[in-house]
Amino acid sequence: MAMRALQASTSYSVGFGMSFASPPRRSSHRRITLAQMEPTDKSVEIMRKFSEQYARKSGTYFCVDKGVTSVVIKGLADHKDTLGAPLCPCRHYDDKAAEAQQGFWNCPCVPMRERKECHCMLFLTPDNDFAGKEQAISLEEIKETTANM
Ligand code: SF4
Repeated sequence: MAMRALQASTSYSVGFGMSFASPPRRSSHRRITLAQMEPTDKSVEIMRKFSEQYARKSGTYFCVDKGVTSVVIKGLADHKDTLGAPLCPCRHYDDKAAEAQQGFWNCPCVPMRERKECHCMLFLTPDNDFAGKEQAISLEEIKETTANM
């Protein structure tokens, strides 16, 4: 139950750039939004490798639900394609291009670099209840866990 709520709220957050406090209800709308987000395989692979390397470097772990990890990686890849930088996909921006240029929320964002705070739940410290034990994710896992979104 907790994981369902976690996945729903995280996907919702990634898809719409809204806060975790928002009710994760409009799942059909979420699916439509994510279906429109089709990053290139090349960018997904770049962000997949980056995520693995940064998890190891920072001593953090992916979520026990790899679907969360996959959605965030695809969101980062989408921004890399459209903005030229991996702007955090879990936030709302009035001007995405300006934010990407400014750099504060380009992954790894400043809160992550300074305090290991990743509100997307891509990089979780070991004490986090939702942290898994893995720092690796394959392209196949990303495709499988996001296939029905
Ligand atoms: S490290 Fe920061 S920019 Fe990267 S996914 Fe997490 S919250 Fe977003």
